[in-house]
Amino acid sequence: MTQYHPLNEQEAIAIARNISGIFAAEGELSCREIGDGNLNLVFHVSQPSTGASVIVKQALPYAKVVGESWPLSLDRARIEGEALIIQDRLAPGLVPTVHQVDHDLAFTVMEDLSSHVIMRQGLIEGGVYPLFAEHISDFLAQTLFFTSDLGMSQQEKKLLSRSFVNPDLCKITEDLIFDHPYTNADTNSFDAHLQGEAERLWADAGLHLEVALLREKFLTHAQALLHGDLHTGSIFITEQSTKVIDPEFAYFGPIGFDIGAVIANLLLHYAGQEHWSADAKARAERRRYLTDTVRDIWIAFDRKFRALWQEHGTDRIAKTVGYEDDYMRRLLQDTAGFAGAKVVRRIVGLAHVADIDKIPDPAVRSKAQRMALAIGTALIKRNRQITSIEQIIEIADSVS
Ligand code: ADP
Ligand code: MG
Ligand code: MG
Ligand code: MG
Repeated sequence: MTQYHPLNEQEAIAIARNISGIFAAEGELSCREIGDGNLNLVFHVSQPSTGASVIVKQALPYAKVVGESWPLSLDRARIEGEALIIQDRLAPGLVPTVHQVDHDLAFTVMEDLSSHVIMRQGLIEGGVYPLFAEHISDFLAQTLFFTSDLGMSQQEKKLLSRSFVNPDLCKITEDLIFDHPYTNADTNSFDAHLQGEAERLWADAGLHLEVALLREKFLTHAQALLHGDLHTGSIFITEQSTKVIDPEFAYFGPIGFDIGAVIANLLLHYAGQEHWSADAKARAERRRYLTDTVRDIWIAFDRKFRALWQEHGTDRIAKTVGYEDDYMRRLLQDTAGFAGAKVVRRIVGLAHVADIDKIPDPAVRSKAQRMALAIGTALIKRNRQITSIEQIIEIADSVS
């Protein structure tokens, strides 16, 4: 057993060197720490003579965002590594290959995806990803179906869920998504011009009830093994390829939480088009592309999840007449509600998104923020009435 300590670049090189089949025996390795997060170190180790490279990601025992005073379990590195291995088995090609997971030093060695771009940045630069809906709906349907009671025996699922008890990261989610945005919490941060909007959030009892119901689902509905943090900053992309990274928040929770995360981030980018599009025509086209993607994701997910249900559904529950339609309706409603909660927290809560925050003109930024808040709160308030993906798109289009 090696005592945990944060790795330096020389140690990351030694770890990478040990992975067989990556680097030539002769030839120097070089290393850069490229992490942009607040919780982890990410080392990029490469061999200039061969062009080979790997990533060594190591968990830090605290969240940098609030200094070293916010301790965070290192067990999340094991959770991330194990989740990636399960996701790779269920959705081959849609996550980086894992070479090694070390529990003592809390690191994962994985495939280098530097040939891809982080989707949030790709979208900001105007990228169009024609295969994204197909890929992400595969990822969602495969990983969520086969880790639910529909695709797994009760005993198997209970045993697996023991490996994904993730109290520290679930607490971050509970606080930052379901609590702080709805009260005057110290961790909240928002532009001063949003003070009135924030106060309306804090006073809206109808909204609070819906958030409480979503929070209850997040806490108690162990439906499937979630990624848990599936925003566009956790997706590496090219026109041909999609790779999901960073499942350190993985735990057994409600399926709509993952689907909602993807949709929320597309809708945040939609609101950000106030700035990122050059004119009204380009803005309308770009927004159409984003809402088409939202629709394509749900429709493909629904089709694939139902096909898995028909082919692999466990006899003990999947055969009840009417259950499948009821289940899919509830998944869509949860997707809407969680998407709304994820939009709201990115405007008034602790961690924001570049799609909105990088808008330089305060008046334009304010317009985008208000639009996002209107979309987010409408999705939360109406989630239990949603029966079609078109209603989610109409909510976005009605406030833009
Ligand atoms: P965190 O949990 O700290 O957010 P991420 O896993 O999201 O860490 O990684 C942070 C950043 O490190 C990513 O945005 C990306 O720039 C880089 N990175 C992470 N994993 C890889 C990878 N497999 N290949 C290339 N770059 C990576
Ligand atoms: Mg990050
Ligand atoms: Mg990340
Ligand atoms: Mg992370």
